[in-house]
Amino acid sequence: MTDISDNLKAQAQDLYRLLPSVNDVLQTPGCQSLLNSFPRGRVLDAVRATLAALRQEVAAGEHSAASMAEIVAGLSDRIASRVASPRNYSLRPVINATGVILHTNLGRAPLSEAALDHIAEIARDYCNLEFDLETGTRSRRDVHTESLLLRAVEIEDRDGYGAVVVNNCAAATLLALNSLAEKQPVIVSRGELVEIGGSFRIPEILEKSGAVLKEVGTTNRTRVSDYEAALAADTALILRVHQSNFSMEGFTERPALADLALLARRAGIPLFEDQGTGLMGSLEPYGVGSEPTVANSLAQGADLVASSGDKLLGGPQCGLLVGRKELIQRIGKNPLMRAFRVDKLTYAALEATLFEYVTGSSEALPIYRMLGIRPEEVMRRCGQIAGEIHSVRLAVDVVPVESLVGGGTAPKATLPSCALSLRHESFSAEELAAALRRLDPPIVGRISEDCMLLDLRTVHPRYDAEIVALLSTL
Ligand SMILES: *Cc1c(COP(=O)(O)O)cnc(C)c1O
Repeated sequence: MTDISDNLKAQAQDLYRLLPSVNDVLQTPGCQSLLNSFPRGRVLDAVRATLAALRQEVAAGEHSAASMAEIVAGLSDRIASRVASPRNYSLRPVINATGVILHTNLGRAPLSEAALDHIAEIARDYCNLEFDLETGTRSRRDVHTESLLLRAVEIEDRDGYGAVVVNNCAAATLLALNSLAEKQPVIVSRGELVEIGGSFRIPEILEKSGAVLKEVGTTNRTRVSDYEAALAADTALILRVHQSNFSMEGFTERPALADLALLARRAGIPLFEDQGTGLMGSLEPYGVGSEPTVANSLAQGADLVASSGDKLLGGPQCGLLVGRKELIQRIGKNPLMRAFRVDKLTYAALEATLFEYVTGSSEALPIYRMLGIRPEEVMRRCGQIAGEIHSVRLAVDVVPVESLVGGGTAPKATLPSCALSLRHESFSAEELAAALRRLDPPIVGRISEDCMLLDLRTVHPRYDAEIVALLSTL
């Protein structure tokens, strides 16, 4: 079958022939003059990257023989701007127009201005990471966030509780199980043997930790009596896993956390909750109901709680373990702690983030600003951008959409929002998505019914003018 795509491929083959070789480009007067001002390696990188980008544009059908001739003639300008540009990094800022506030592939929570400032000041110089300025002796790095964390989760008994910070919530759970339950049974409901993104599966983490899984109940129903019947002399702890990324409906039952806590107390073993989300205050003001907080877990009697730093806490990637001091001390003494500890940049970002909570200004955190934006405001911005885009090839509409909280939290919650709906004269929705990803900065949206949707709830307004300029080039 000779169809359009075969024709396109044949055309692209012809266009590739118009591309000069790396050596030819290096011989041009434009490149020779660049070589006088910049190191050879840097110019060579820019030539290779420019040619590779052009090849991609050809493959995407963006060029004709005429436009190629024009581009090849102006190639040295493209190369010069690449040589001069400081953005040769692999890790780059991206405009997240997906409407998913905590997008794991796009880096989850953006940080607050205070966190960025604190990171910069701590990274630029030496700091008291493990140094007690009072006594001049070595100290623990967790002192920088421990008391703030206990305040943020409303623990009054500061002497009876403690907190440690590790790489992420997966590490927190693995470390806690290994510290408190190696070679001993851990009781878990069959309804909580879940997978939380990628390769984090509770039964596998449990096995890797060295703990012995003791499953109780059924997928849809588990009662306190099931846990009770499974208690043995060597049971190390009861594990509860928050169902953060799915919901179960119908004939379901699981004990209240407080009832499990009572049972654990009677049995003389700790109740450990993998809480996950790291939520500090209620989400109800944002129209997202029934997401439990870390404070709630502790108030209901969980002895130890693991959560993420970069989900609903709105901070850097890390895992937080908050709980009874005796448990935190056992965890702190585990040799694996050294492998899981975080660096000074994480403490700086986490300290600044927690400060916003304890000073009552959590709306300074970007995720709460995004959660709180009213749909009318998103609609106003969409309307303004749509009115300013000048591209005869792009049809722009403004449509209502639903944003998501994301990051494996609040799986059922949606927030009414608004999006730019884009259709291109000659690109399919997939081709348009690819062209948007090649912009600088790249724009990531989502496709719905052959349209490209850009939900502006997750886009900072400082990008609005740039989005007009970027879209006008398509
Ligand atoms: C997200 C989540 C994790 C994993 O957290 P990371 O910080 O991504 O490692 C673990 N448990 C629960 C319940 C979660 O929601």
